[in-house]
Amino acid sequence: MNRYLTLAAALVSLVSPLVAQQGDKPTFTVGTAVARRGTMATGQIVVPAGSDSGMSISVAVIHGARPGPVVAFISGQHGTEYTTIIAMQRLIPRIDPAKLAGTVIIIPLVNTPSFVSMTPQRNPTDNKSMLGVWPGDPNGTQSSRAVALLMKEVVEQSNVILDFHGGDLDEDVGVPFTAAVRGGRAKQDSESVRLAVAFGVAHIQIIDRNVESPTVGRRVDGQALLHGAASLLVGIGRVGTVTDADVKLAIDGCLNVLGALKMIDRPATPAYKPIWLDAAAPQISAQGPGAFFATVATNTIVKLGDVLGYTTDFLGNKTGDITSPIEGLVVYVHGVPSMRRGVSLAEVLPVLPGVPEWKPR
Ligand SMILES: [Zn+2]
Repeated sequence: MNRYLTLAAALVSLVSPLVAQQGDKPTFTVGTAVARRGTMATGQIVVPAGSDSGMSISVAVIHGARPGPVVAFISGQHGTEYTTIIAMQRLIPRIDPAKLAGTVIIIPLVNTPSFVSMTPQRNPTDNKSMLGVWPGDPNGTQSSRAVALLMKEVVEQSNVILDFHGGDLDEDVGVPFTAAVRGGRAKQDSESVRLAVAFGVAHIQIIDRNVESPTVGRRVDGQALLHGAASLLVGIGRVGTVTDADVKLAIDGCLNVLGALKMIDRPATPAYKPIWLDAAAPQISAQGPGAFFATVATNTIVKLGDVLGYTTDFLGNKTGDITSPIEGLVVYVHGVPSMRRGVSLAEVLPVLPGVPEWKPR
């Protein structure tokens, strides 16, 4: 076979349901939310106090009038990535349980301590990134206890999982994207790609993970793979601002996915030519503390060695240029001057001619 499948070939193998459908129960329960068939219920996933304080995570469960797949929309593991948090809040009333087949679980905001304290990236209670502590630990600190409950209440009940990110206080995701997360199981991977296309955002990243790796389950997208679910990641948003256009992009994408799963009656996503991007690109990270200023615009093609921005010390003296390690599309730049060692300053991803064969990196 060609190294690159055509989109048409990728779509052909995708029509059958992925795993046993969970959404055919008379009632569907997530935390304290108990939705009877044909109704919507809200509630809390209550994380009890342990070695540190407790917290709770708000959830909406829309249990359709007819059976079908279970789709989970999870946002706000990074609690200041406002665009998709607000979009998921506004998505809830857009889904009519009377007209829905299957079940939709919406968690607009996982990391409430981050949101209320305006702490980017981490949960200030235990200073952990919730993104990296999956599958959690019921005896761990707050982030781990919360994630352990999300595993049981959400991941283990879902057939399709979308994890939303983007536009944290320091992040300019100038190129909104969906990502198909693949684990080397053809049917599951094809479904992730199909739904990423259905979402309808032009740029689609390919993230290939090794399901045999001991670290694959550290993120929710890897746990989705391990549980046989279609796994997608979405990134939309710019340095903490919430625009109507970005919110609409996220809401429409979710509705498009539900349409593609035949859970709601919605016209197929208009055809477009996806721009495939290889997410496995070298990191462009700060080497130490100082300030960074991007000089390249996002959505620009750069060559190896092209200047992306420059750094200064705390007196404003230039300390160096940041250059691209590869040729590719600039999809992200660090959106504020603050810089510490290890911070991602920019992201340049190779543009792929089509959907490549799975190859974990
Ligand atoms: Zn994030």
